[in-house]
Amino acid sequence: MRAVVYDGVGQLPEVRDVPEPDCPAGAAVIAVRATGVCRSDWHAWRGHDPVALPHVPGHELAGEVVRIGDGVTTVAVGDRVTVPFVCGCGRCELCRAGEAQVCPEQYQPGFTGPGSFAEQVMVPAADTNVVHLPDGLDFVGAAALGCRFATAFRAVVAHGRIGPGRWLAVWGCGGAGLSAVMVGRALGARVVALDVSPGALERAGALGADARVDATDLVAAVDRLRALTDGGAHVSIDAIGSPAVAAASVRSLCRRGRHVQVGLLLGDAAATALPMDLVVAHELEVYGSHGMAAVDYPAMLDLVERGLLDPSRLVTRVIGLDEAGAALAAMDHPGPPGLTVVEL
Ligand SMILES: [Zn+2]
Ligand SMILES: [Zn+2]
Repeated sequence: MRAVVYDGVGQLPEVRDVPEPDCPAGAAVIAVRATGVCRSDWHAWRGHDPVALPHVPGHELAGEVVRIGDGVTTVAVGDRVTVPFVCGCGRCELCRAGEAQVCPEQYQPGFTGPGSFAEQVMVPAADTNVVHLPDGLDFVGAAALGCRFATAFRAVVAHGRIGPGRWLAVWGCGGAGLSAVMVGRALGARVVALDVSPGALERAGALGADARVDATDLVAAVDRLRALTDGGAHVSIDAIGSPAVAAASVRSLCRRGRHVQVGLLLGDAAATALPMDLVVAHELEVYGSHGMAAVDYPAMLDLVERGLLDPSRLVTRVIGLDEAGAALAAMDHPGPPGLTVVEL
């Protein structure tokens, strides 16, 4: 089968013929029909998040099941499906409690194993990880759900517990941030989008953000946000993954507010400092958000089916597998707003 492969950190990925994946007991092999190009893939390619080489990237996938392993009961050949970027083992206490997104034995296609920039991809523990798609959701729209959209949904809904009329601040309007804007609006929140890129802010406005703030000067942005929200946001999300932005996000909260960290803080950023004096004095809550378990997808898909959320509105570019490697490498520089999806 054809797959996008790279042999070394930062080496331009190329399309090659590789063997089709095995289908062990409990697993499913999915014929990939669409797969998103995500900054997490770029982090792995640049060596910030090491992977075994040679490597096939890709983790935001949708497609059709073509093989199932022994013991799979809820997934059949021909099913239209997607999977979370964190796949649980299906056996441990956390998986059994519906918390597969933090499974200690987790498997991430495109990181711990070959990913979805390929004609086929293997997903273990299919009964735990495979999500069936509603008929009205096409593969390109579904590919946009897997990582950034689902992560943003969990950040806003489960951690942020946002409600109608509450203020939601979204720092960074890439894929995850724009998803958070859309989810916040669907739930009736008032949304302030912050970014350094006028194009990204414009996109956030088109997706329903009530206010847009230039975040080039973080101190000024916090002041502006606090004024706009009459004392601070109820929920603030760092969708970038920058120590300075994470701290600004915490500073922008009202008392009893909630900061949700969505952007990865890898490498040197792992030691990010937050203003813990404010966390104590204002009784703030600080959460990390790491994808979303398959078991939590139905609530999100219900909003998609009812037309309240449309992930395909995030997709601004659809490309072929031959262009996927170049699209990944192009993330060295800020790109156009919205999501790029590879269609196979
Ligand atoms: Zn597990
Ligand atoms: Zn991703």
